[in-house]
Amino acid sequence: MQANFDTLTGLPNRRMFRERLEQEIKKSNRSSTPIALMFIDLDHFKEVNDTLGHDIGDILLIEASRRISDCVRATDIVARLGGDEFTVLLTEVEDVTSVERIAQSITQKLATFFQLKEEVAYVSASIGITLYPNDATDIEGLFKNADQAMYVAKEQGRNRHSYFTHALQEAAQTRLRLINDLRGALAGNQFMVHFQPIVDMATGRINKAEALIRWNHPERGLVSPAQFIPLAEETGLILEIGDWVFYESMRCAKRWRTLYNPVFQVSVNKSPIQFYKDGDEHAVWLAHLRDIDMPGEGLVIEITEGLLLDSNTSINGALLTLRNADIQVSIDDFGTGYSSLSYLKKFDIDYLKIDQSFVRHLEIDHNDLVLCEAIIVMAHKLGIKVVAEGVETERQRDMLAAAECDYAQGYLYSKPIPADEFEELLKRNLSA
Ligand code: C2E
Ligand code: CA
Ligand code: CA
Repeated sequence: MQANFDTLTGLPNRRMFRERLEQEIKKSNRSSTPIALMFIDLDHFKEVNDTLGHDIGDILLIEASRRISDCVRATDIVARLGGDEFTVLLTEVEDVTSVERIAQSITQKLATFFQLKEEVAYVSASIGITLYPNDATDIEGLFKNADQAMYVAKEQGRNRHSYFTHALQEAAQTRLRLINDLRGALAGNQFMVHFQPIVDMATGRINKAEALIRWNHPERGLVSPAQFIPLAEETGLILEIGDWVFYESMRCAKRWRTLYNPVFQVSVNKSPIQFYKDGDEHAVWLAHLRDIDMPGEGLVIEITEGLLLDSNTSINGALLTLRNADIQVSIDDFGTGYSSLSYLKKFDIDYLKIDQSFVRHLEIDHNDLVLCEAIIVMAHKLGIKVVAEGVETERQRDMLAAAECDYAQGYLYSKPIPADEFEELLKRNLSA
């Protein structure tokens, strides 16, 4: 029994499922009727398991397997691949709309509360769907497709299903190629750092800039960091790339502090992966600052809220190291991530950067104005300065200034520009 069935739910296991899939593929070839493969992943199951315990988690999995089975015909196959992952094989799909209907009923059924002994839990499901022979002609291909489609469903906000499409496949290939190209980009001198001014709202002075990386791909042209930074993080390449951005930025910062503005600072984005690496990295950065005779005050490190909420890391120690070296810390994209604000008093934070999404609708959405004002008041009470991101219009600038925002950054002042252009901007600003 155990070789073919999952002991917890009694459903076929991965091995048995593959066998059945092989058989069904043969049948489908004979009858020329397609089959559909669904990957179902429970959303938030881990939380239930962690908070209510494994016994309760097991009951939930058994109940979920029952609910899924209730949605399909007796001739279809439901299996558990492991963990909170289920799979469904819909055989003889005469009508593709039936797949849609079944996917909907599964999401609905799984989004209904689970009564688990005395506890009530909510999960939902993300489903990826692929069709044989339309999308792939072998088992590996089908598994990969269903997995990708499920990933898309998760990314789009969970509690939904998504179909594998050709576009999806192309996106996956592009991704792989980009990862490959990324490996050679540093050696190929394809990266640049651009600088965007951060303007002091009270004086109009440019005392700061944010360093933003640019990738000039030999065939694709400029690739957005929003596209390649996540890939760099996934592959660990962010460590080297991040170091390179730091060296470049500090070289420029040093020059501009010497030539134009002794209090000039450059903000460098640092991804959580860079913090997790080891405790030693800051030592390398600090040594570099000493080497080029650059005080810590010239550097601000931008991190995201998520990093501070991760209790598993020695983030506190890392932040203290920065503090002791006079390096300042800024919370990027503030307001988009988490509702817990307790970390603001727990850690020494110098700046909050109000996310662009709040600034964008400032003129039309009164709620966003109220939020910006509240963030500014709160930050100031905690001794933290505020930078507004994505400031594009004079009206936005005026509203933020009226709310006593300290700094502004956005296209209204300048897009991120190459170092030589930025230097010109800095000179003009100084003589204005
Ligand atoms: P971010 O740190 O939030 O950077 C601000 C982004 O907003 C930049 O996009 C900037 O070009 C854009 N922006 C600035 N002003 C305006 C405006 O007025 N309107 C609009 N619509 N956009 C504006 P960019 O350069 O494409 O960078 C995207 C993200 O990539 C950054 O978001 C950051 O998270 C990441 N990134 C960029 N460079 C680095 C880096 O060196 N290291 C790491 N780890 N991440 C980086
Ligand atoms: Ca940033
Ligand atoms: Ca930001």
